[in-house]
Amino acid sequence: MKTVFVPRETADNETRTALIPQDVSILTRTGFEISVESGTGVKSGYLDADYAKAGAKVVPAAEAASALAAADIVLRVQKPENAKGLKSGALHLSYMDPFNEKELLADFAASGVRAVSLEMIPRTTLAQKMDVQSSQTSLAGYYAVLLAASKLPKIFPMMMTPAGTISPARVFIIGVGVAGLQAIATAKRLGARVEAFDTRPVVEDQVKSLGAKFVKIDLGEMGQTAQGYAKELTPEQIEKQKAGQAKVCAQSDVVITTAKVFGRKAPLLLTKDMIAGMKPGSIIIDMAVSTGGNVEGSDPTKEVVTENGVRIIGGDGLERCVPADASRMFSGNMTAFLTHFWDDEAKTLKVDRADPIMGGCLLTEGGAVVHERFIEKA
Ligand code: NAD
Repeated sequence: MKTVFVPRETADNETRTALIPQDVSILTRTGFEISVESGTGVKSGYLDADYAKAGAKVVPAAEAASALAAADIVLRVQKPENAKGLKSGALHLSYMDPFNEKELLADFAASGVRAVSLEMIPRTTLAQKMDVQSSQTSLAGYYAVLLAASKLPKIFPMMMTPAGTISPARVFIIGVGVAGLQAIATAKRLGARVEAFDTRPVVEDQVKSLGAKFVKIDLGEMGQTAQGYAKELTPEQIEKQKAGQAKVCAQSDVVITTAKVFGRKAPLLLTKDMIAGMKPGSIIIDMAVSTGGNVEGSDPTKEVVTENGVRIIGGDGLERCVPADASRMFSGNMTAFLTHFWDDEAKTLKVDRADPIMGGCLLTEGGAVVHERFIEKA
């Protein structure tokens, strides 16, 4: 297990690559043999010549299928359509969207390919360096604020000029996980007045430490899972939350929603009525749009303008708007994973499901789905 192949991403909207030249050098020195498909880094600013200089074999598109079929390990950003072309026993790392992709998992299992789902990498201190969810969403949180600032017909900071005083824009962040924290920090840096809410009570101090105001809404029993994720709210709690938020939304120039519940549909938190109460020209960015959406009427493919002039943007995959750094971080995560599991004596990558990180993210092996959360119960 030491030959690694990085195919070129095929989705039109994908700008990232799973591996950058700098990390090719690290992996090559470790003992891996790396091939990349020609053009793999072209959209993120990494050139074939740099991959070659770093020690990778650059494979022309016409030979990509045979490189794929020969590889022990395949690194991709997006999930593939199926496991076609991969050799049995190969380890395939990518996003897998495992809660929604039963057929894809079944196909990987049937092909004997070992699928690592990057979404399932455990949220432990040791695995943090491999966690693409964190690295990518923090960039997305940053970019959401820039996007909102560029669309808002107002400026973010307060400005006192001889022509008059401009008050700071008001930004409301709903959901303060990785993306939300980065969004707060970015909006504060731009001079906005920031408020935030999350159902996990531990977040209040983090919000305050960034200089933002925590919106208090009493929802009764809340808390978080052992993995640090939010617990799903009851319908009554969601109604209470909506009522508590409505006034803050009406006063805000920008609302960015990032509220997700791992493995489940995102809660709908901004209804048409609440949006109707917002000022014309206000911007809403729904960063949960691809998992059901926090905002009524948001669309992952286009901007929606409401009758009262509020612009709703489906903020899906905003990290793809900063592909150089998104690829750098993604690649850093992949490199951390591969070097962590490298057995230097045997000169091979060790795949051992008893390891808590590997066991946490390996979904298929030996012809079957092996991850307990995805095994079909009869
Ligand atoms: P996420 O993407 O699942 O959810 C985003 C945020 O939405 C979370 O903060 C969640 O509490 C919040 N949310 C859910 N329902 C909501 C509602 N109804 N209203 C308002 N907010 C709601 O979460 P995430 O950003 O991936 O991170 C969750 C936690 O995990 C954070 O505390 C983060 O620091 C932690 N984390 C730990 C590690 C690690 O230790 N390796 C890595 C990454 C994240």
